[in-house]
Amino acid sequence: MSNVRHDAGEPAAPTIPVTAEIVTIGDELVLGESLDTNGRDLARALRTIGVAVTRQTTVGDAVEGVAAVIREAAARARIVVTTGGLGPTFDDPTREAAALAAGVPTVFQPDLWASITTMFERFGRVPTDNNRAQAFVPFGAHVIPNPVGTAPAFALDVRGACVICLPGVPREMRYLTEHAVLALLVARFGLTERLWLRTLHCAGIGESALDAAIHDVVTAVPQDGTLAVGLAAHLGVVDVRLTARAANAAEADGRIAPVEAAIRERLGDAVFGADDDTLPGVVAAALAARGWRIAGVEAGVGGALAAALAGAGDVCAGVEVVTDTLSAAALEAAVAAARRSRAVEVVVGVSLRRAGDPAHPSPEAGRIDVCLATPHGTTTTTLAHAGHPDSGPSRAVAAAVDGVRRAIG
Ligand code: AMP
Ligand code: MG
Repeated sequence: MSNVRHDAGEPAAPTIPVTAEIVTIGDELVLGESLDTNGRDLARALRTIGVAVTRQTTVGDAVEGVAAVIREAAARARIVVTTGGLGPTFDDPTREAAALAAGVPTVFQPDLWASITTMFERFGRVPTDNNRAQAFVPFGAHVIPNPVGTAPAFALDVRGACVICLPGVPREMRYLTEHAVLALLVARFGLTERLWLRTLHCAGIGESALDAAIHDVVTAVPQDGTLAVGLAAHLGVVDVRLTARAANAAEADGRIAPVEAAIRERLGDAVFGADDDTLPGVVAAALAARGWRIAGVEAGVGGALAAALAGAGDVCAGVEVVTDTLSAAALEAAVAAARRSRAVEVVVGVSLRRAGDPAHPSPEAGRIDVCLATPHGTTTTTLAHAGHPDSGPSRAVAAAVDGVRRAIG
């Protein structure tokens, strides 16, 4: 018999990801009165310690409803973080709900009450009887002191999961996460890794064509939680997101680099940049590297080309803005005129013809003309815009700027 022993008390093996669920609590969130920003901020913070969030749930201020969501989340994930509902009033459900989920009563904590009253004294206020409610926590909970507000946070075990209840006020939530929660989770779960992100930006290729091109590369990635690949489509730009779980940058690179290389090989020049790169930024840098300057002519895109080229600085000699759409022939003439009058190497012209008018969008496709004049010659291409009419300008400008990138590349 082998003397290798499985010790259940050991920290999780690094390749078994510790996952978390986030529960955001508040009637104002479910009713659409305010936007949940805590979920996003918490997910980003948890990523820095290698914890992947697998689900976020938003629930209104009812004790039974919140308790049910906490119990369900605790059955799936090893970590559950809630925000909101820790205020002093009758409609703040989280203390009672967490206790109900754990099957314990809430208990008065004299120490907590003392620190709440001290906090009030510091603000020159007198606590009310309501505030006493905030000194109750579920029996067995570990109090996380809140030096930036009166709602205390706490951690307790529910169904073997670590449930952490944080205040809803975003500033307090972020403070406690950074100063207490992350360290608590790192210690409790023996976390040694974090998630590292690499984003490849692509243009001139649709989401489904891109998916098909990299499909076999993506399906060959081992499903062991060390690397995940995802797509996110924006207007005219599609991102491929590679998320690696690793202890340091070198290890992360070892996981990401081979898959990134395979994806780049499949997508070729559709990939225009990575991480913080933007399409106009990449094009401006390419022009600057050649010592070239660019001018633009836009028609029917409401200043979107001028806005995109505004960051190009001296590389851009100006954009002529035409309010109405132009025919392809008129666009070509305007581009030729701009090339002469502005004495630049590159002129990009873009015209958008909407289907229907803004008040009565038509289901028919709009039309985008892009005219490019470079030292290699002049070309005009036409494409259909089949999306929502309001997304036409962004699509048209992405196509135009990507046209410049490809023409000078
Ligand atoms: P609560 O802790 O539920 O009393 O919430 C205190 C304040 O934080 C209120 O103004 C809420 O609107 C705000 N808040 C609560 N939850 C969130 C959330 N998930 N995202 C952003 N703000 C929130
Ligand atoms: Mg609330």
